[in-house]
Amino acid sequence: MPSLKKHLEQQLQQRQQANLYRHRASHLEPQAVIRHIQGRSFISFCSNDYLGLANHPALVKTCQSGLEDYGLGAGAAHLLHGHSQAHEQLETALADFTGRERALLFSTGYMANLGIISALLDRQDAVILDKLDHASLIDGAILSRAQIYRYPHGNLEILERQLKTAAERSRFCLLVTDGVFSMDGTLAPLPEMVALAAKYQAWLMVDDAHGFGVLGDSGGGCLEHFALDTEQVPILMATLGKAAGVFGAFVAGSEVLIESLIQSARSYIYTTALPPALALATRQSLQLIQDETWRRQHLQQHIQHFRAGAKKLGLPLVDSLTPIQPVILGSSEQALAASKLLYEAGLLISAIRPPTVPKNSARLRITFSASHEAQQIDYLLSQLARL
Ligand SMILES: *Cc1c(COP(=O)(O)O)cnc(C)c1O
Repeated sequence: MPSLKKHLEQQLQQRQQANLYRHRASHLEPQAVIRHIQGRSFISFCSNDYLGLANHPALVKTCQSGLEDYGLGAGAAHLLHGHSQAHEQLETALADFTGRERALLFSTGYMANLGIISALLDRQDAVILDKLDHASLIDGAILSRAQIYRYPHGNLEILERQLKTAAERSRFCLLVTDGVFSMDGTLAPLPEMVALAAKYQAWLMVDDAHGFGVLGDSGGGCLEHFALDTEQVPILMATLGKAAGVFGAFVAGSEVLIESLIQSARSYIYTTALPPALALATRQSLQLIQDETWRRQHLQQHIQHFRAGAKKLGLPLVDSLTPIQPVILGSSEQALAASKLLYEAGLLISAIRPPTVPKNSARLRITFSASHEAQQIDYLLSQLARL
């Protein structure tokens, strides 16, 4: 048997040869559109800070005052006296904002998805996922031990067949989808999925990590965009580290759903509550999301501007009306090379490769923020034209 070290060295080498090696770059500055690396400045098109709230002065100030009131760490899990007034008030605000009876905070979106799916299902049940659903949803499904079905992205025909089979063979069936697909920017066909879920008595759960704050007139996300209610989508999950600009995640739904998750979602029970100062800042962020509608307007203008310019250049665009605008290139090698060329031109754009996206669909994942300026998008287009 090879030693652990030898085995890992070989694996890493293979990864490198396949252009799948991932690197981290560290920095010392706040999240912003302009970034500095080794004395050079770059325009970033790779953050999920869609509304430009991650370093909003009012939120930073609120966080600082939260540190004075609550100190730094929560010190314990929610059920073991880690639950503060700041957490409680944020949950109430999230329930109000989403128009649901209650909301429950999780420390991260990844943990929320693990906890929700595994708390609701067991071996007797089924869970149906879109092939492009986020890794955390897939892992939650695996953890639940339910029978897993996955349908090709957006394919309602196959979804219906799976719903039918699941209804015949399993006790309960949970249909789980990203609201906005994180690497494609496409929307799930939620109205059609609601109808199918109703027809086969499946429960529908939407992960709105990339729609929350961005879609809908008041930023309520894809459920506001499609005007869907709690009856139609009983389980709404979203994250607070993307458009909301802070950290954490929540699930919103009925009183019984939330009470059940408090009792049995293991990634809720057995983990430290997030720092109360962050919860305080997030509550204010929710207010900004609702009040500062200009942020969503700027964002939409940038998206339209980019799409019009990219169309003129003949770039292969994905049908996305969200701030996620991928340019699919194919091989990991091509995506890496393009990302590197753009880097040399002063643009930060991530190359996304398998297994994050399917084989042969490596891409540049371009994301926009309300904080971008029109000239920055013109510059991006001019550099994409050179590629
Ligand atoms: C980012 C993301 C998550 C995970 O959220 P974190 O709070 O970053 O752990 C879950 N689902 C989707 C669709 C995401 O994009």
